[in-house]
Amino acid sequence: MLKVKGHPVPRDHYINGEWITGEEFYTVFSPIDEAPLGEMPKGTEEHVEAAIASAADAFPAWSALGAEGRLPYLQRFAEEIGKRKEALCEVESTDAGILLSRLQHGIIPRSMLNITWFAEAALTLQDRVMDTPQAQHFVRHDPAGVCAIITPWNAPLMLTTWKLGPALASGNTCIIKPPEWAPMSSALLLEAAHAAGLPPGVLNMAHGEGRPTGALLTSDPRLARISFTGSVPTAREIAEVAARNLVPCSLELGGKSPFIVLEDADIDLAARTGALMYRNATQVCLAGTRFLVHDNIREAFTEKMREHVASLQIGNPQLESTEVGPLIHPRQLQKVEAYVQRAIAAGAEVLWGGSRHDGGGLYFQPTMLSGVQQDAEIVQEEVFGPVLVMQSFASDEEAIALANGTNYGLGGVCFGEESHAKAIAFGVHTGFIWINSFGIRDLAAPFGGCKNSGIGREGGEWSFEFFCDIKDVVVPKQPFVPSFAKR
Ligand code: NAD
Repeated sequence: MLKVKGHPVPRDHYINGEWITGEEFYTVFSPIDEAPLGEMPKGTEEHVEAAIASAADAFPAWSALGAEGRLPYLQRFAEEIGKRKEALCEVESTDAGILLSRLQHGIIPRSMLNITWFAEAALTLQDRVMDTPQAQHFVRHDPAGVCAIITPWNAPLMLTTWKLGPALASGNTCIIKPPEWAPMSSALLLEAAHAAGLPPGVLNMAHGEGRPTGALLTSDPRLARISFTGSVPTAREIAEVAARNLVPCSLELGGKSPFIVLEDADIDLAARTGALMYRNATQVCLAGTRFLVHDNIREAFTEKMREHVASLQIGNPQLESTEVGPLIHPRQLQKVEAYVQRAIAAGAEVLWGGSRHDGGGLYFQPTMLSGVQQDAEIVQEEVFGPVLVMQSFASDEEAIALANGTNYGLGGVCFGEESHAKAIAFGVHTGFIWINSFGIRDLAAPFGGCKNSGIGREGGEWSFEFFCDIKDVVVPKQPFVPSFAKR
């Protein structure tokens, strides 16, 4: 066991209901102060093989339980997550640099709901009967089988439970490979699953890096589904391997989402919401990172947003007053800094920020760049750090063209008079877009991206569609007469 902020954290793989010690280890650091938190194991071929075999063995009994039979297990799982709230908040904040207050008030309740909501929703999955002139069609959602779940470091608990909820509720068995830069909360999550009495093999975990552990997992032909959230290059690797095995993938990837401010917008509300884009140091896939502001209000909007950004508190994510925490890793900090330096060298103007935070560590100043062309790297590529870019437009057509002018299509934000903003939103090619708001989510609603931002949708029925094989059981209404002449 490791100890993080006084909380014991298992440092083993979890396979077939048992904690399995590793052979090789790597060190995990806290982004808050770069202090080592301890060692986690690197999953080998043997661990991945055992995890897949155990999930495959557990599948028949777990799927046969039916949604009603699985419900009490999953309710207990959520309760056990709730019992570990303090540990999960402190460990995830220390390990991933996420604001403690956001974990306490948002992420933990949501993670519990991710399990219970889908467990309850699964109860009605088998109820669909289609009446056609010739027959009754009993449309069944059969669990697909063994699922691999791979998540990134920017929101491990929230993203892992968001996938586990529908996967387990619909009768699949799973193997998770936690993100190597922030693996600690997954260990506590598996401890909660163990305490809830989930049958051995239903949920397994192999720690480790993308290569070899993640790649060993996703290349296994016994998988029925791969649910992946992460970057575009990794998604390409996974999709290539999965294609060879014909394993369906759900891919939730990066973004470069537009934040559009129309001439008729409430400028102060838009500017206050704009400052929110720096939450989690903008290591948030769905953040609006390309500000598109109407020419006539650009100056007023820029000044308002500058005021709100100037008051942001940057620092230790465990302090109540902090609003912007650290970047996850020195490599991420270097990457962010290099993007900014290249943009400046190419002629970008710095509206605010532009360099590391004075206090040192992995903190970067909330930054806004402008004076860039649409084809500039800083406009086209996801930085995944607190660096936003501003462009302006003169007409609705131009706003839509700029919004659509990248290879990404995850989300978007549009501020303006409601019907005007909606008309713009309808023209923007993304998976979702918020009008005069940001971040409103519901488990029943679809979530996912277009273009390079992903394939597939998660949430409500879309999650179930992905994790299930749809079967049509056809019962004729009239006695059947075999005939070669009829179809
Ligand atoms: P990443 O692609 O580097 O890693 C994601 C996960 O994939 C990690 O667990 C990693 O170990 C694993 N992995 C790496 N190589 C692998 C391989 N060859 N086979 C199997 N697994 C492998 O991404 P990251 O840097 O950890 O995360 C940041 C990215 O995630 C950003 O692009 C961000 O936008 C995206 N993201 C998207 C969403 C969404 O819902 N669309 C949500 C959060 C983050």
